[in-house]
Amino acid sequence: LVILGIETSCDDTAAAVVKGNGEILSQVVSSQADLLERYGGVAPKMAEERHSQVIDQVVQDALDQANLTARDLSAVAVTIGPGLSLCLCVGVQKARKLAGSFNLPIVGIHHMEAHALVARLIEQELQFPFMALLISGGHNLLILARDLGHYIQLGTTIDDAIGEAYDKIAKWLGLDMRRSGGPAVEALAQEGDAESIKFSSPMKQHKDCNFSYAGLKTQVRLAIESRNINAEIPISSATSQDRSSRADIAASFQRVAVLHLEERCERAIDWARKIEPSIKYLVVSGGVASNQYVRTRLDQVVKKKNLKLLCPPPSLCTDNGVMVAWTGIEHFCMGRFDPPPPADEAEDFVYDLRPRWPLGVEYAEGRSNAR
Ligand code: ATP
Ligand code: FE
Repeated sequence: LVILGIETSCDDTAAAVVKGNGEILSQVVSSQADLLERYGGVAPKMAEERHSQVIDQVVQDALDQANLTARDLSAVAVTIGPGLSLCLCVGVQKARKLAGSFNLPIVGIHHMEAHALVARLIEQELQFPFMALLISGGHNLLILARDLGHYIQLGTTIDDAIGEAYDKIAKWLGLDMRRSGGPAVEALAQEGDAESIKFSSPMKQHKDCNFSYAGLKTQVRLAIESRNINAEIPISSATSQDRSSRADIAASFQRVAVLHLEERCERAIDWARKIEPSIKYLVVSGGVASNQYVRTRLDQVVKKKNLKLLCPPPSLCTDNGVMVAWTGIEHFCMGRFDPPPPADEAEDFVYDLRPRWPLGVEYAEGRSNAR
């Protein structure tokens, strides 16, 4: 069993080939970081154009690196949501063209499910049920994964995701955004004093597992303004005093942003145990899970709660084709896939895209019959 995974839901064009036993034969990512830096965010039309320009090459490179041709594949897996529909469409079109030409089944993939399930590729011991904290540019999700395709959403963000907050704060602090903002804030935070500014922790009064980052972002913006930090002056040109003041803000923000994750995870573990007492793992995935401070702090939480922490390596935490191919393998093995599309599919064929697609059902604390 060999599956090609294609991912174009946001700003990265990615493809990978993975074998049924979890062996990664290739992994290719073409990122749009230069566009992000220039325009300060993902502009859907521009992102779509970039995906269209590189998709053929990215897929070809993935096949070449795996030393395979499309004829050798068992199926094609492709992200169909959630994400920007213009962008998703590029990947789905490519997947259907390939599948149509080579008579391959197609597996439509949920991007966030893929972020979670890739943990099962790196750790064969990870069985259902398990918990997952998915932290990325567009999502903050606490999930109880009961079985393949059977998820309970314990918490989500009521406004922004943590990755979005990292990216905005990187921009306001004048950091180098050539990669995404997260790693830049993490690096600068190491120079700062995390206790220097007492930002207040979000949603303290809400005894649930939801997240909010909009208020913390505002607190940080006000701190930046009151210290006269000018984002137009890049950090590389800042005076040492200016630099250390930016570092204090980065560190103080990071402490509270992650404290919010810790508090929510602790409660979610208690909730999850009421439904599935046998859980052993908390999986932490999505781009922000590559952050070392996040990993260290959450490791303490799970130890206290007698669980094990499982974070995929950074290249599998940020968007990648491997997670899509692997999730395709999981579903394919359960017989969940679509038949090969017709090779001569009409140009105006309407694809099954799911730009907004919740992962599982919501759990309301106290409702013991939550499925
Ligand atoms: P989603 O998965 O919600 O659709 P996405 O696919 O754009 O969003 P990912 O690629 O999973 O997001 O993650 C990107 C996010 O992760 C960005 O916001 C980026 O700043 C953040 N990120 C990456 N590395 C780090 C880090 N070391 N520290 C903090 N944040 C990070
Ligand atoms: Fe993602």
